Amino acid sequence: MYPRRLSKAIHIGSVTVGGNAPVSVQSMTKTDTRDVGATVRQIKELEEYGCEIVRMAVPDSEAAMALATIRKGISIPLIADIHFDYRLALQALEAGVDGLRLNPGNISEPDKVTAVVKAARERQVPIRIGVNAGSLPKTNRTDLTIPQRMVEAALHHIKLLEELNFDLIKVSLKAFDVPTTIEAYTDIAARIPYPLHLGITEAGTPRTGVIRSSAGIGTLLYMGIGDTIRVSLTTHPREEVITGYEILKSLDLRQHGPVLVSCPTCGRCEVDVIELAGKVEQALQTIKKPIRVAVMGCVVNGPGEAKNADIGVACGKGRAILFKKGEQVAVIEESEILATLMREIEGM
Ligand code: SF4
Repeated sequence: MYPRRLSKAIHIGSVTVGGNAPVSVQSMTKTDTRDVGATVRQIKELEEYGCEIVRMAVPDSEAAMALATIRKGISIPLIADIHFDYRLALQALEAGVDGLRLNPGNISEPDKVTAVVKAARERQVPIRIGVNAGSLPKTNRTDLTIPQRMVEAALHHIKLLEELNFDLIKVSLKAFDVPTTIEAYTDIAARIPYPLHLGITEAGTPRTGVIRSSAGIGTLLYMGIGDTIRVSLTTHPREEVITGYEILKSLDLRQHGPVLVSCPTCGRCEVDVIELAGKVEQALQTIKKPIRVAVMGCVVNGPGEAKNADIGVACGKGRAILFKKGEQVAVIEESEILATLMREIEGM
């Protein structure tokens, strides 16, 4: 891996983004923000899954008015996502949000930006300049590529904020297209000191969205770029949080709950490892310990992987060998594998 780009640290409520802080995992609520009860419930669930910062859409004044009550009901920092109407940003700041996300493509008049920045500076609330390839500000520069236009838009808005003596800035340059996203982020990473929020926008339904996000976010993180991430998926936001951590865990950037190692199974397998691994994965969702668990189909690679894990099973005909910290500790009947494994994990 490349050394991590050292960015300026900013604080979104209690969470530091940038500097030497761990890469944080964010998500966005999918409830109607005006429905305070449903929104707080969804955030509480996201907190359970380890979400560290939550953002929500603020489409109108009623939603902005709900923010203060939502803020009181949750434990993680809250970011208001504002489009078009700068007055909603002022209202959100008034409500006590921990961060703002503005899209320079749709709040562009300098006096409106000035009003928001002034109010954010008074409260020391960071602003994310969230550039989206689908809503770029108009430009006469027909010579620029899409990634270059994204970077230009971000730099223009960064300059506006800096001229107002404001540097609590975070930047994102999201596109659906993975190479476009990577190009835009790598370009801007070398030109500004601010932390970067990574994401692939409108990435899609869980299967393709996870793949696109892993390719884009994962590549950038491997290059040392990125301080906080949000995986966008067309499904419940808990999946975004789970996927975010899986990306970070796969790059050894964070530890968060168990890592499951399971073999793909093949013709040598004599136990239904596909079903077993699925059940183990499900059961591990409530476990917070950062342990490595192996579910292997046979004695070819099974004992090796199971031995390397903190705990694991290598299956055989009608039974499995249980390993703990490299030692064989028991032989389990097939019907007892899941229950025994989970009991042992809970006792660890
Ligand atoms: S561990 Fe065994 S069953 Fe699983 S894929 Fe490898 S050879 Fe096949």
